[in-house]
Amino acid sequence: MSDFSIKFCGGVGSVTGANFLVTINPKKFLVDCGLVQGTDFADEFNRKDFSYNPREVDFLFVTHSHMDHIGRVPKLVADGFSGVIYSTKETFQMAQIMFEDALKVMEDKMKKEDLKPLYTEKDVRKTLSLWQTLNYHQSKDFRSFSVYLKDAGHILGSTMYEFSFKINGDNKKLVFTGDSGNCPSPLLRDTEKITDANYLVIDSVYGDRNHEPKDQRDKKFVEIVKKSLNSGGTLVIPAFSIERTQVILYMINNMVEDGVIASVPVYLDSPLASKITNIYKKSENLFNANVLGEINSGDDIFSFPKLSIVKKHIDSENIKNIIGPKIIIAGSGMSEGGRIVSHEVHFLPDPKSTILLMGYQAVGTLGRKIFDGYKKININGNVIDVKANVFSISGYSSHKDSDSLLEMVSDSTKTLKKVFVVMGEYKSSTFLAQKIKDNLEVKAICPEIDSLHYLD
Ligand SMILES: [Zn+2]
Repeated sequence: MSDFSIKFCGGVGSVTGANFLVTINPKKFLVDCGLVQGTDFADEFNRKDFSYNPREVDFLFVTHSHMDHIGRVPKLVADGFSGVIYSTKETFQMAQIMFEDALKVMEDKMKKEDLKPLYTEKDVRKTLSLWQTLNYHQSKDFRSFSVYLKDAGHILGSTMYEFSFKINGDNKKLVFTGDSGNCPSPLLRDTEKITDANYLVIDSVYGDRNHEPKDQRDKKFVEIVKKSLNSGGTLVIPAFSIERTQVILYMINNMVEDGVIASVPVYLDSPLASKITNIYKKSENLFNANVLGEINSGDDIFSFPKLSIVKKHIDSENIKNIIGPKIIIAGSGMSEGGRIVSHEVHFLPDPKSTILLMGYQAVGTLGRKIFDGYKKININGNVIDVKANVFSISGYSSHKDSDSLLEMVSDSTKTLKKVFVVMGEYKSSTFLAQKIKDNLEVKAICPEIDSLHYLD
């Protein structure tokens, strides 16, 4: 049995559920422990025992605070893990908010479906007590290996981990990208380069597709907002709480301050996104040079005249009674629950209003039905006529596209022994693996679930 291996316990053949067990003898550690989301088997998978003994794992390294990377951490702790959890400070802060929200969602679900929760408040408290933070460009030594953090540019605080160790006296480097960002990002810095990886575990959500060009996304956004407000209707934007909401606020902030649009009421109607935005506000040092310049010139980039942060449910309900052009930003991003749904019930039948989809809409979600152009949609038992204008912009994805992923791998062509393509649908991952083999002549594979791969 080799002393060096990776077991792919989740996040293979699927975008979600990231969970990788690394052995660098005598230590065992995990990278990410996320929820499986959006499939019929998700609940069953998430409730299953881990395919390793959590008590035998020494550390957990968390790449970023999306639930498909952190959502099962409290379960790991409930099942016996008592090692140290590492991440950046921002990931730790946002993870706390995400766990609180998950507890609330589970409580509601439990009442409706009479299900046992995946974990409790006590498990979350214990989880947070095990957490320690590391900085970008910090190296930490664990005797048999060391770790170094690089900015992934995906969401605030997202990091790539470089693990260095020796096999038979030779230096080796194993790198996990986590999710890597779509650069340049409106707010964040670019993904840092990896130039000397021997083993690379890379994300592949968009392994088989490229995004629309970046210059078009901003133009499209400005046009849609202007058109919508000029028609006197309401612009409704379903938005993910982390990153997308902050990008939208930042874009509107600039449009209002540059006089591109008139100052209209803008409602941020998501308690979760509001809390996350507060973490963004405290983390200015992690923004790109362009945004830092704006902040240094005195701009509060997430705040502008007529922006309301909606807290109470009753205030959310009252927005529909406000006459005239306005913008509503609410969660959830795929319109599966959250305050966005009641806004859609109200504004979808209004031909003057606009629904703007700025994120991926999974099959089966309400967001996907709107995206697909259904003219009648059943929402909570009521048939809603769709007369509003529906637009979508895909360019604000926070994931690298196919060509950018290949470029990231190409920086390590000289040193790479093997690339493990993960965190994508089967079609997307296999396409990227083939593209890497064809273009770079580097070995690239899509590991099977729970398969064990030795490093040599
Ligand atoms: Zn992510």
